[in-house]
Amino acid sequence: MENFQTMIIGAGAAGLFAALRLGEAGHGKEVLLVERNERAGRKLSATGNGQGNVTNLDLSEKHYRSSDMRLVSSVLHRFVREELLQYMASLGGIFSADEEGRVYPASRQASAVTDLLRFRLAELGVALRTGEKIIAAEKRGGSFYLRAASGSEYCCKTLVLACGGAAAPHFGTDGSGYALARSFGHTVTPLRPSLVQQKTDLPPIRGLKGVRCNCRIRLIRGGHSVCGAEGDVIFTDYGISGNAVFKISPCASAGDTVAIDFLPDTESAALLEALRNKLKSAPALKAEDLFRCVVNSAVGKAILRRCGIDGARNIQDIAGKLPELAQMAKNYTLNLTGSLGFDSAQVTQGGVSALELDENLMSKKVKNLYIVGELVDVDGDCGGYNLQWAFSSGWLAAGAVAGSKN
Ligand SMILES: Cc1cc2nc3c(=O)[nH]c(=O)nc-3n(C[C@H](O)[C@H](O)[C@H](O)COP(=O)(O)OP(=O)(O)OC[C@H]3O[C@@H](n4cnc5c(N)ncnc54)[C@H](O)[C@@H]3O)c2cc1C
Repeated sequence: MENFQTMIIGAGAAGLFAALRLGEAGHGKEVLLVERNERAGRKLSATGNGQGNVTNLDLSEKHYRSSDMRLVSSVLHRFVREELLQYMASLGGIFSADEEGRVYPASRQASAVTDLLRFRLAELGVALRTGEKIIAAEKRGGSFYLRAASGSEYCCKTLVLACGGAAAPHFGTDGSGYALARSFGHTVTPLRPSLVQQKTDLPPIRGLKGVRCNCRIRLIRGGHSVCGAEGDVIFTDYGISGNAVFKISPCASAGDTVAIDFLPDTESAALLEALRNKLKSAPALKAEDLFRCVVNSAVGKAILRRCGIDGARNIQDIAGKLPELAQMAKNYTLNLTGSLGFDSAQVTQGGVSALELDENLMSKKVKNLYIVGELVDVDGDCGGYNLQWAFSSGWLAAGAVAGSKN
C-alpha cells in the first residue's frame, strides 16, 4: 500500500487545478493525482469545439443552477475570473474574449490549455498516475483507504474527489465519482444531461438536415414561454443542435415546444411587406420562390409545406396566404421528444448536494474529504461557466487543504 498526504481522484479541470494549487503552496511532493485515462485533461482538451472556452466576462449567478447558490456565489467570488486568467498568464498563456464575452486562449486550442497545466504540474513535482481507476474508498480512523481497478491500494490523510459528472462518458466520466461520494454517505441529487442536442418530432424538420440558421428560439411549456435564446440552430436527422439549442437545453424537457423565429432582426410587418413586394415584382413566380433572399431555401420549402402549400403553385394563387406564411417563419414550432442524453451532453445537471459541503468544498459529513468540479450539483450555461466552476472549486478546496488563507 502506498501512502500520501493528499490524493486527488480525477485529472480534469478541477483536479488539475487542485493539484497545481497544492504544488504552488509547496506541497507537491505529498500529493498523488490519479487519472483513469492514459492522459490528463482529455475533456478539457475537447472543450469549446476544441478551442477551449475557459471562462466568461459575465459570471453572474443567473448562469448557474445548484441546490446551494450561496456556495456557488462564494466560490466564484473567492477565486475570480481575473485570478484564473492571471494564473494562466503566469504560465505563459494569452487569453482574450470574443464579442459574446467567451474567453479563449489566443491560439484557440483547448489542448494548449491542458498542456500549460500539465507542464507546470510536472515542474512542481506533483505525481500524476494515469491509467488508474479508483473503484472503492473508505475512511478508517483518520485515514482514507482506496482501492484501484488494477488491484493497487492507497492510503491518504486528505482526499479530493474530482471525478467529473456523467456527461460525455467517452472522456472517462462514467459517473463513478457519484458511487464514491455515496459510499461516504453523500446525497446525489437527480442527474440529467444538460447542454445537449434536442430530439423533435420529425415531419416538420424533413428536408432541413444540415441547415444552420441564426434564429431566436423560445421554449414553451403549458402555453407559457419558459426561456429563450438567440444564436445558431442546426437541423439534424433527429432534431436540433447548435448554440441556441444548448442555451435552452438546461430547462428543456420532452413534451415542451420550441418556437423558432427564423428572422429575429425583422419585424413581422416588414417580413409581410417583403413577401408582398415579391408578389408585385414577379407575379409569375412559383410559391417555392417566395422565400428566396428571405430565409434559407430549404427552410422556405419547409414553411410552405407546414402551411399546406404546394411549391409548384403560382405565387398569385397563394396571395391570401402570405400573412400565415410570414407568421410561420416567425413562429415555427417543434415538439421536443427528449435529448440525446449523457453520451452527447456537455455537462451534468445535479450531483453531490452542494448543501452537504462547506464553503471550501469540504464534506460536512466526512472530515478532510473534498468534492469539487462537475461532481457537485452545480451546472452552468454554455459559454465557459462550467470550466470556471471546475477551476475555482478545485483551486479553493486545495487552498484549504494547503492551509492557506482564502
Ligand atoms: C465536448 C465538451 C465541450 C465542452 N466545452 C466547454 C466549454 O467550452 N466551456 C466550459 O466551461 N465547459 C465546457 N464543457 C464542460 C466542462 O468540460 C466540464 O464541466 C469540466 O471539464 C468539468 O471539470 P471536472 O474536472 O469536474 O471534470 P472532468 O474534466 O470531466 O474530469 C474528471 C476526470 O476524472 C477522471 N475520473 C473519473 N472517475 C475516475 C475514477 N474513478 N478514477 C480515476 N479517474 C477518474 C475522468 O477520466 C476525468 O479525466 C464541455 C464538455 C464537453 C463534453
